[in-house]
Amino acid sequence: MRSARQIVRVCAFLALAAHACTGGGGGGDASTQLPDAGGELVREPTLDAADPDSADGTGDGSPAGDLGPAARPRGKVVLISIDGCRPDALFQAPAKNILALAARGSFSWQAQTINPSITLPSHSSMLSGYPPEVHGMLWNDWRPGYIPVPTVFSAAQAAGLRTVMVVGKEELQQLAIPGTVDTYVFAPGADENVVDNALVEVQRGFDLMFVHLPMVDYQGHLNNWMSDVQLQQVAETDRHVGRILNAISPDTTVIITADHGGHGYIHWSDLPEDYTIPWIAAGPGIRVGHQITQPVRTLDTAATVAHILDVRLRSDTIGRHVQEAFTK
Ligand SMILES: [Zn+2]
Repeated sequence: MRSARQIVRVCAFLALAAHACTGGGGGGDASTQLPDAGGELVREPTLDAADPDSADGTGDGSPAGDLGPAARPRGKVVLISIDGCRPDALFQAPAKNILALAARGSFSWQAQTINPSITLPSHSSMLSGYPPEVHGMLWNDWRPGYIPVPTVFSAAQAAGLRTVMVVGKEELQQLAIPGTVDTYVFAPGADENVVDNALVEVQRGFDLMFVHLPMVDYQGHLNNWMSDVQLQQVAETDRHVGRILNAISPDTTVIITADHGGHGYIHWSDLPEDYTIPWIAAGPGIRVGHQITQPVRTLDTAATVAHILDVRLRSDTIGRHVQEAFTK
C-alpha cells in the first residue's frame, strides 16, 4: 500500500496535471487556487518532529505555556460521512458499532440534507455551513478550483489546529482549500483503504479529521438502496468505522452522518428517503443515550464541529451547532 504522503503527492500531481490540461477554466482565478502541494508537504516534517502538543496528546497546536486563545483544552473531532447511508439501513444491516456509538451519544434519525441531495453539494454544506445557493457547488465531479466560501477546516487551520481529510471520492478535493488542510488523502477503491489511511493519520495526530466512506453509495447505485448487497456493505463499512473508534483517544468526539440517503438506484428525487440522514455525536460533553428532538440539518454539522473545537465560523453561516446534543 502506498503511504498517505505518497498519495498526497500523487493527488497533487494529478490536480496540477488536470489543471494544465484544462487551462484552469471553470475554477475562477485558478492561478491562486491550485493545490498548494508544497505548502502541505512542507508543514509535515515540523509536525513529525516532536510537536509538544502532539506528544502529550492535547494537540491544540499551541506551544507549551502559551496562554493565548488556543491554550485552553480543546476537543478533537473525527467527522465520518458514510456516503448514501440511510438511517434505517443502520438498523437493518445492522451497523453494530455505529449503533453502539449512538447509544453512548446523541443521535437523530431524522436529520435532513440539502437540496440537491447529491454528494459534492451536500458535503460542501456539511463542511461549510452554507447552503448551495451561497457556496454554489452544484456539480458532482472533480473540477479545478475550490469551494468559494470558508469551511470549518479554514477556521480550524486559522486557530493553529492540525487538520486532515481522507476521502474516497476525488471530487471532494474541491473542499480542501489550499492552506486549510494539513494532510489531504484521496484513497480510492474501498472503505477499507480509506480507513487504512485514516488510521495512519490517527497515529500521526490530528485535531480535526474528516473521513469519507464511499462504498454504501456505490452499492446503492449498483444494487438498489436497502438491497441485501447494500445492507451487507453497511455492515462491512460499520466494521471499518469500528477500527477508527477503537484507535482514537477518549478525548475525541465522533460525529457520524451522511450526505444523502437513496431509494431504488438513485438519491436525487424529492422523496424523504433521499433527504433523511443519520446524525450521531458521541464524546466528551455530549449527552449520553439522547435522541435529539430539535431539527438537525447537514448545514449544522460544520457549526457543531466548530463548537467542539472552539473555533469560529464566519457570522454569515446558516448552520448552527446542535445545541441539544451537548450537556451544557
Ligand atoms: Zn453521495
